Amino acid sequence: MTLQLYNTAHRKKEEFVPLKEGEVGMYVCGPTVYDFAHIGNARPVVIFDVLARLLRHEGYKLTYVRNITDVEDKIIAAAEQNGETIDDLTRRTTEAYHADMAALNALPPDIEPRATEHIDGMIRMIEKLIKKGHAYEAEGHVLFDVTSMADYGKLSGRNRDDMIAGARVEVAPYKKDPADFVLWKPSTDDMPGWDSPFGRGRPGWHIECSVMSEATLGITFDIHGGGRDLIFPHHENEVAQSCCAHDGAPFARYWVHNGFLTVEGDKMSKSLGNFRTVRELLADAPGEALRLNMLSAQYRQPLDWTAEGVARAKASLDRLYTALQNLENVETGPIEPAAGVIAALEDDLNTPQALTELYALAGEANKATEEAEKARIKGQLLGSGRLLGLLQQSPEDWFRKADSGDISEQEIEQAITARIEAKKEKDFAKADAIRDDLAKKKVVLEDGPNGTTWKRA
Ligand SMILES: [Zn+2]
Repeated sequence: MTLQLYNTAHRKKEEFVPLKEGEVGMYVCGPTVYDFAHIGNARPVVIFDVLARLLRHEGYKLTYVRNITDVEDKIIAAAEQNGETIDDLTRRTTEAYHADMAALNALPPDIEPRATEHIDGMIRMIEKLIKKGHAYEAEGHVLFDVTSMADYGKLSGRNRDDMIAGARVEVAPYKKDPADFVLWKPSTDDMPGWDSPFGRGRPGWHIECSVMSEATLGITFDIHGGGRDLIFPHHENEVAQSCCAHDGAPFARYWVHNGFLTVEGDKMSKSLGNFRTVRELLADAPGEALRLNMLSAQYRQPLDWTAEGVARAKASLDRLYTALQNLENVETGPIEPAAGVIAALEDDLNTPQALTELYALAGEANKATEEAEKARIKGQLLGSGRLLGLLQQSPEDWFRKADSGDISEQEIEQAITARIEAKKEKDFAKADAIRDDLAKKKVVLEDGPNGTTWKRA
């Protein structure tokens, strides 16, 4: 079978055929770096990581691009609220994002462009749009004129009335049409800004992705991904900008969108207090269990994130790692994914089916008696796991982490540093509490002349 992907642009599953034989360009909208990533932000990261792994397995030379939006109004507001500089905020949250996504076994993209490194390209694209009659200046802003594009709204399937009624369209007096959107906006002196022919200002969010995708993958490329909440207005506007700047040349060929994520049945929102950051969740469960739980629903379906689901995922991994542990003394056969796992993923990334195949393989492992059979299964468990981003640590490591309350080496080092600080401040009660807490997690500290060392009990 060949890879089938549901293409939002045509509202059907299609066979994936890249523009250039053997090569694939994929662009996924990345984070706006102003806070810790929540579990909804992690869904596309894990999904497109599986797609990237699958494409590479199928022999494609993949260029996977995921941007960092480091200039946006939410960043300005958060920096002011936290009392930190924009640079400090974006650096800190970008680092946290990288660490959290790595903990979910998501491999880094090949290229990670930052919006602030592409301001010149944005200014050039905006100038082009003005020249071609698709954009206009008004009160320090530059706006895209949606009436200049006959099929504006095609990707999201919205007509003009829907758009205007949509709460996400900002009505402003300087707009010729309420659906016109901002390409450039003026910055006051205390805001980040760049000099441009339209005055000192900063780009709108949508133009960032049009320019970064072109700079890294070219005008027309294969796959554009993101959450389905981005279809309108973000992706619709990316299409408008890119197609109009290049006289109608096609933009992304396959639009792939993941479904919504709810938490314990509710939409995640700050007001409901059910916002779950990846960081918080990692304190209670291994990243691999979070990843498996994420893959338990097909990516286009809604996913309800529950504590029960995470516990189930952890139990599933216990079973899989037990199967591997039982094969410890067996020579490993070729590390190749099982045919059933590949077939499931080629069918529009049917990850629940791929997991079912993986569990079946573990069941076979527990029944196998012949060495050759065991070797084949072991290789297929590891190969299938690799394709899904699972089972890449040793069973010993998996079970040891599970026993020690999933505390990582980094967390242990952090706790030791905090204990040293507490002692310096003569807060011995706190220092003892830290030691006791580590002991509960089966980490033993030894104070010696050269400082504190630790070992797992
Ligand atoms: Zn984007």
